[in-house]
Amino acid sequence: MRDVIVVGAGPSGSYMGYDLSKRGLDTLILEEHREVGKPVECTGLVSERVMKYVHTKAGVNRVNGARIIFPNGESTHIRKSEKTIVMDRDRFDKDVAGMAIDAGSDFSIDSKVIGVRESRECVEVRYRKSGNLVEERARVVVGADGVNSRVRRDIYGNRPRRIVSAYQVDAAYELPDQDSVEVYLGSGTSGGFFGWATPAGDTTKIGTGSLYPTAKKFFDNLNARFGKDKVLGINGGAIPISYLRRTYSDRSILVGDAAGIVKPLSGGGIYTGIVSSECGAGVIADAIEHDRVGMRKLSAYQRLWKKKLGLELWFDGLVQKLFSSLSDNTFDRLYSIISTPEITSVINRVGDIDYPSRVVLSVIARNPEIVKYLLVKR
Ligand SMILES: Cc1cc2nc3c(=O)[nH]c(=O)nc-3n(C[C@H](O)[C@H](O)[C@H](O)COP(=O)(O)OP(=O)(O)OC[C@H]3O[C@@H](n4cnc5c(N)ncnc54)[C@H](O)[C@@H]3O)c2cc1C
Repeated sequence: MRDVIVVGAGPSGSYMGYDLSKRGLDTLILEEHREVGKPVECTGLVSERVMKYVHTKAGVNRVNGARIIFPNGESTHIRKSEKTIVMDRDRFDKDVAGMAIDAGSDFSIDSKVIGVRESRECVEVRYRKSGNLVEERARVVVGADGVNSRVRRDIYGNRPRRIVSAYQVDAAYELPDQDSVEVYLGSGTSGGFFGWATPAGDTTKIGTGSLYPTAKKFFDNLNARFGKDKVLGINGGAIPISYLRRTYSDRSILVGDAAGIVKPLSGGGIYTGIVSSECGAGVIADAIEHDRVGMRKLSAYQRLWKKKLGLELWFDGLVQKLFSSLSDNTFDRLYSIISTPEITSVINRVGDIDYPSRVVLSVIARNPEIVKYLLVKR
């Protein structure tokens, strides 16, 4: 019997495999696709923090600003001293998988998990490897299998409540300002989320998110701003922006997108997924070492990730709910409030893509009226 089976070789699953193997656990990672990193469903924007976890040369550009475009066409520019990295996500995923393999994880591609069952003694995982049915047992299973997690479906029977559908393309369009991401607000370009154009050298990732069933119509409006159609490839996906109430069971934990451990305001989940895996690996190793696998022991995982990320994700979730209900008029009014030199300099100073609550709270502290305005005038 294996110590751990990790389902899914995205960044969360591969980092989990790496960390568990480094701790000496017999770990198998199962990935349904024939190639790790494909298909790409991501913009690849991450902070420098991610580079402390993963040794990679996947960076294709670095940006240090954001141009926020309001529904009335006005824009404000935020510029930070730290750079945000635009990654080639395919290469990044392969690099994390390489770390897991180098650390000793067994790795199996073309292995789609079709059933997971917990018992008192073990967890049974059934998967199709190149079409053949295989069954393996392990002490613990980790659900790192993304937004439509099979592990979550079979053991937890639920899903994150708030899911954004995202539609993104790679376009043969070179943004004039390669140092800034463009962020589009309002009902023309997104459904309760935002639209974006991210410079990646001679191509641009243009996309949008929607809390309603489809993001395509918002994307079409956004894409029209970039002239005649220059789409090279389409790569949408779903982003869970609320986490599950419980992320552990008797013999399993859920990490990353499978658990909804994603930043609700931006939809970024690479950093939070890796942090959740780091928390989970320590707890699983401890449980197995003391031969005490069970709900009680694995609950430490949730306490740990919540200690590191819980308050941030909770607060950002509240702000996202408010944000998603704002009218175009309110966004336009917000423009006049946040584009003042005083507020822009606060945003420049404390803005952090992994911890946006800091900037939200600092802006409110400078201009408390903003809260009243947002709550009353939606
Ligand atoms: C359009 C878009 C843009 C985004 N942009 C950013 C961004 O700029 N920055 C950022 O931080 N985040 C971004 N995200 C979010 C980010 O992509 C995810 O949060 C991140 O990929 C989560 O990693 P994960 O390992 O938890 O899950 P995933 O990356 O989804 O990995 C899950 C893996 O499990 C595999 N799998 C699924 N089911 C099974 C099964 N039954 N058996 C075996 N294997 C299975 C999948 O093939 C996949 O490889 C974006 C998302 C979208 C949709």
